[in-house]
Amino acid sequence: MSAGPSGKPGKHEPFSADSVSRQLDYCTYCPKMCRHSCPVSTASGRETYIPQVKMDRLNQLRLGRSQFTTESTDPLWACTGCRHCTMYCDHGNEPGLVLFAGRAAAVDHGVPHPALVGYSERFRAREQRLSAQLATGFKEHMATEGDIGYWPGCDAIDKGAADIAAAMALFERVGLDSVKIVEAPQACAGYPLLAAGHTDLFRWHAGRVAASLRGFRKVAINCSACLYAIRSQYAAEGVSVRTEVVSLADVLAPAANNLACSLNRRTVYYHDPCYHARYNNVVEAPRRALGGLAEVRELSWAKADTECCGGGGLLPKTMPLVADQMAKRRLAEVQATGGGMVVTSCATCTFMLKRNAPPSVEVANLATAMAQLSETPFTAPPSSPLDDEI
Ligand code: SF4
Ligand code: SF4
Repeated sequence: MSAGPSGKPGKHEPFSADSVSRQLDYCTYCPKMCRHSCPVSTASGRETYIPQVKMDRLNQLRLGRSQFTTESTDPLWACTGCRHCTMYCDHGNEPGLVLFAGRAAAVDHGVPHPALVGYSERFRAREQRLSAQLATGFKEHMATEGDIGYWPGCDAIDKGAADIAAAMALFERVGLDSVKIVEAPQACAGYPLLAAGHTDLFRWHAGRVAASLRGFRKVAINCSACLYAIRSQYAAEGVSVRTEVVSLADVLAPAANNLACSLNRRTVYYHDPCYHARYNNVVEAPRRALGGLAEVRELSWAKADTECCGGGGLLPKTMPLVADQMAKRRLAEVQATGGGMVVTSCATCTFMLKRNAPPSVEVANLATAMAQLSETPFTAPPSSPLDDEI
């Protein structure tokens, strides 16, 4: 569908002051070369939300040519950090990361997004609720140390308990029964704090999560954005992680050979989470994990050119209708061909796609899909409704 990405992600140190200024200047004077690539502007139909305009708006704020107000900072929140624009930028500019830095500046100026007022307190309360919920549902599977740990992520604990149960059943079935859920006072690795512009709280939280992971040699993370946060942004904030962090797909792919495949191999589509595909390089592992159990079919926008489902950047909180529209766009292709199963490997993508799926499309997290396709039984505790507070 596309001519192929031309940008070079990772070319910049996006948070250094010089780099931010340079990127903002390049974007301000750019003839909008990446305008087609932003799913937020496409889904919303708003010119104000194309990457060039968002970056120009932040540049005007940086240069003091406009004041920080709720209205002037609105475009900074119209981004999921999906990095698709970067793939089409000859300069390798990183609007997603720069706009997140702009959000931190907005918070410093006392102008958080109206939907995120009091977010740090709300985040802490949700952490307490979800870590208690995880302990209630999965106590016998939890430990503070071991060889391999499993970090389900906040959205799975909240809305995808079945996916956690499926992962534990799969581990046991393939001989990885020593894998334990990481027992910790935290449920989330902190990406939402970055996206909300709370850099100081993110740094503090990252230190606590790193300490919780320390008892394990390796931990499989079930959230694409939090895997990115641990691998890239913890170090950027001076927090070192001694534990090897990988995606759930990285652990399940080699073990998938030990699962019996049903005689009737289904065809499934795979949705690449944008943070996995463009930051974490988790592209082939989920396909290998699924490939032994089903025929994996590609969506038109796939692998490094995937399109965001709307779950990133706290967009489901700040612009919920646009976020839902992005998820619907993502599934429209499958719906148009008669429907089917769409599998993804991120807890946030799973609930965003699920709550926007038409009746003909079944959405499944990687672990649940693998358990279903290999007829591995599992029993799930109850979850919150998909349209509940995120
Ligand atoms: S990211 Fe690159 S292509 Fe997009 S507006 Fe900025 S300079 Fe132009
Ligand atoms: S990172 Fe994604 S959502 Fe943000 S401006 Fe670029 S394409 Fe749009």
